[in-house]
This record gives sequence, structure tokens and C-alpha cells, in this order.
Amino acid sequence: MTSSYNDLRLIGIAWQLDRLRWVPRAELAEIVRRDGICMWVFVDGDPPWLGERLTDRELAARMCAGCPVQDECLELELRTAGEHTVGVWGALPEDDRRGLHWHWLRRGERVDGRDTHGPEGGPKP
Ligand code: SF4
Repeated sequence: MTSSYNDLRLIGIAWQLDRLRWVPRAELAEIVRRDGICMWVFVDGDPPWLGERLTDRELAARMCAGCPVQDECLELELRTAGEHTVGVWGALPEDDRRGLHWHWLRRGERVDGRDTHGPEGGPKP
């Protein structure tokens, strides 16, 4: 089977997230709250794109650009929302995160578990 470019990109991201495998969920949440651009950079004013009609993909590109904790944000969202993820997190729109989730599940266990949905949408073995 030939993988599309997007599949290969998502597989690469799943590999990249392996470095966070042993970081507890609470620590990930603290890192994202403390360092996530969207958590503090717009506190003093509206984001420049406010009022524009943006797709999730465009919003992810604009809002998350330069955020230093994209991987932590993505890992946290995959562990907590799993395939039911919605909106923009970790510099990816939800369609990409749902595709990534399938590859991420195959990377193995996490220190404090993942969501309860297995690769085929059933219970985790
Ligand atoms: S990656 Fe995006 S959604 Fe996540 S903390 Fe950074 S700016 Fe916010």
C-alpha cells in the first residue's frame, strides 16, 4: 500500500511525540498552560485574525506559529481527547489530529495511559 504524503507526515509527527512518552499528563498540562502562546500572548489584545473567516487549518497555522510547546500540546490532546479531538491544538486542525491519532496509538503505551479507544475505534486491549 502506498502512503500519501500526509500519512507520511503524520507518521513522522507520531515518532516525534515518542520523546514525551514518559512525561506525565499533569506535567504536560502545566507546560502548555505556562508556555503556550495562545495562553498568554493575546491577553492584552485581540489576535490579528479576529473577524476573519479562517479554516481550522489556517487558524492552526496562524495561532500556533512559533509556539514553543506544539508537541506537548499535541501529546496532551491525543491523550485526553483521542480520536474525539475537536478544534485547533498542537498546530494541527482536527482532521489531521484524528489521522495522527491512528499512527500515535501504534507507538505504544504512555506513562499514565491514553484514551480508551483502540486503533480500530474499539476498547484498548
Ligand atoms: S500549540 Fe497552538 S493550541 Fe497549543 S498551546 Fe501552542 S498556540 Fe495554543
